[in-house]
Amino acid sequence: CLSLASSTNETFNIFSCLNSIQDIIDLSNESHERYKAGQPLSILDGIPISIKSNIATRDFPLSASSDMLEGTPGYDALLVKKLKRAGAIVIGQTNMDEFGMGSLGSNCNRGYTVNPLPFLHDFSLDESIRNIQTLKIPSFDVDREHIVSPGGSSSGSAASVSMGSSFISIGTDTGGSVRLPSAWCGVVGMKPTYGSISRDGVVSYASSLDTVGIIGSSVTCVGHALDIIKNEKKNNNTLDLQEDLRDSTVCFMGEDIIDPESTDNSLEGLKIGVPAAFSITGCSKDVHQAWDDTIQKLEEKGATIVIIPESTISSETVKMTLPAYYVLSCAEASSNLSRYDGLRYGLSSSGDLDVPEGMAAREGQFAIVRSKGFGKEVQRRILTGTAVLSSDRFHTHYEGASNVRGTMTKEFNHAFGQGDECSSEDVVDLMIIPTALTKPPKLGTDVQIDSTEAFQNDVMTVPISLAGLPSINIPINEGDVSHVGMQIFGPRLSDKKVINTARILQ
Ligand code: GLN
Repeated sequence: CLSLASSTNETFNIFSCLNSIQDIIDLSNESHERYKAGQPLSILDGIPISIKSNIATRDFPLSASSDMLEGTPGYDALLVKKLKRAGAIVIGQTNMDEFGMGSLGSNCNRGYTVNPLPFLHDFSLDESIRNIQTLKIPSFDVDREHIVSPGGSSSGSAASVSMGSSFISIGTDTGGSVRLPSAWCGVVGMKPTYGSISRDGVVSYASSLDTVGIIGSSVTCVGHALDIIKNEKKNNNTLDLQEDLRDSTVCFMGEDIIDPESTDNSLEGLKIGVPAAFSITGCSKDVHQAWDDTIQKLEEKGATIVIIPESTISSETVKMTLPAYYVLSCAEASSNLSRYDGLRYGLSSSGDLDVPEGMAAREGQFAIVRSKGFGKEVQRRILTGTAVLSSDRFHTHYEGASNVRGTMTKEFNHAFGQGDECSSEDVVDLMIIPTALTKPPKLGTDVQIDSTEAFQNDVMTVPISLAGLPSINIPINEGDVSHVGMQIFGPRLSDKKVINTARILQ
C-alpha cells in the first residue's frame, strides 16, 4: 500500500505526508508475529490506514492544508491512539480542503487531489500487490480531459480508499465532508452521530457540527473501525472514559456496531422513508435514477418504503438549511480560528514583517500573519462569520439560522417518531436520499471554480449535519453509473441500524 501510495502521489496528490518504509516494515512484522502467535490485537491489526491532515498524528505535520500551521504535534489524537492500540498501521496523512472548508478538494495549500475513479478501470489492486513484489509500479494514464473533483473536504481520504492505498481512512464531516467525497470517489463513508467519536486532537472548524467520520471499501470494515474509535463506557477502564471526556460533547452508543454472529440478511419489518422534500430541482437524471433503483432494491430486501410528505418534512425548511449552515459554520469558524494570532499558535510573526503604517505593532502583526497564513476561502469565511456575529446582524442572521436548524431537527425527529403527536403509521426507522445532486465537476488549473456553485451539492448533506444524525454513503457502481452515492440516515444513536441496513443493501 505504501508503494502504491508513494508511486502515485505525484499524479494524484492524495497524501500530504507518508510514513517511512522502515516504520511500515517494522510495524507489519510486529503484526505478523502476533498473527503467527494467534494473538492479533483486533480485526484491524496490520491493516494499512490513513488519516486526514487535520487530525493529530504524532510524527506527521498537523497542517489542515493551511500555511497557518506548521510542525508536528508530538502526540496522537485519541482516535489515532485507539487505532494504533488496535494494531492498525498509519501509512500517511491525506490531503484536504484547508481547515475542512470546501466541497471540491480544491482549497488545498499544496494543490488539489485528482479523483482516481476515472483512471482505475484497467487497474487491479490484487495484481498491483503481486507486481509490487517484483517492484513493478502501476502506471496511470491521467489525461486532463478526465480529471474530476474527488469531493471535499476529506478528498485525499476518499481517494486513498478508492485507489486501494489505504483500506480505511479517517476524515472529518462538518457538513458532508466524508459523505460527498465518498460518493464521488465510489467508496463507503460514514458520519456517525455527532459526539460519538472524541474530537480530542482534531483541528476545530465549526464545533457544534464537527464530527469524525470513517471511509472504507466496505460497510463492514467501516463498522469495525467505528467499533474501535467510538467513545466507550468501560466499567473497569476509567482511563478510556477520561480520555473520551476531553471532548465535552461526547455521547455513547452503548453497544457494538458489528455483531460477528449476525447472519441477518433481510430488511423485513424495517420502514424506510423517502422524504419528498429532497426531490430538488438540480438533482441530475443519473442521480434520480440511482435513487429509484436503490429504493427498489430496498423493497426487494424486504423493507417497507414510506413516502414522507411535505407536511412532515418541508422543502422550504430543507432549502433554508444551506444558507443556515453557512451562517452557523462561518460564525463558529471565525471564533475558532481567532486562536491563530501569530503569537500563541500557528505561523509565527517573528522575523522581518513590515507592520503597515498607522497600525499598532501587535495589530499589524496579527493582520499580516492572518493574511499570509490563511487561504482565500478561509479568509472569506472568517469575514462572513464575523459579519453575521456583529451586533446589527446577529438577530437577523445568526438567530435566524439557529431557528432553521431547530426546525429541521424537529421535522426529522417527527418523521422518526421522536416528536409529539406522531402517529405510528407514518413513523419511519431510517431514510434514504442521494448524497449529492450531481456527479463531480471537472477540476484543473484551467477550470474556473465558482465557490457559490460549489456549495449547491451540500444541500443533501447539511440538513443531516445540522440535526447531528448518523448517515452513511453507499457508492452506486452499476453499469455506466459511477461517482454517485446514496445516503441512509436515521435518528441520533441509530448508527448500528444505519450500518446494518447499508451492509444488507450493499
Ligand atoms: N462543504 C462544506 C463546507 O465547506 C462541508 C465541509 C465539511 O464537512 N468539513 O463547509
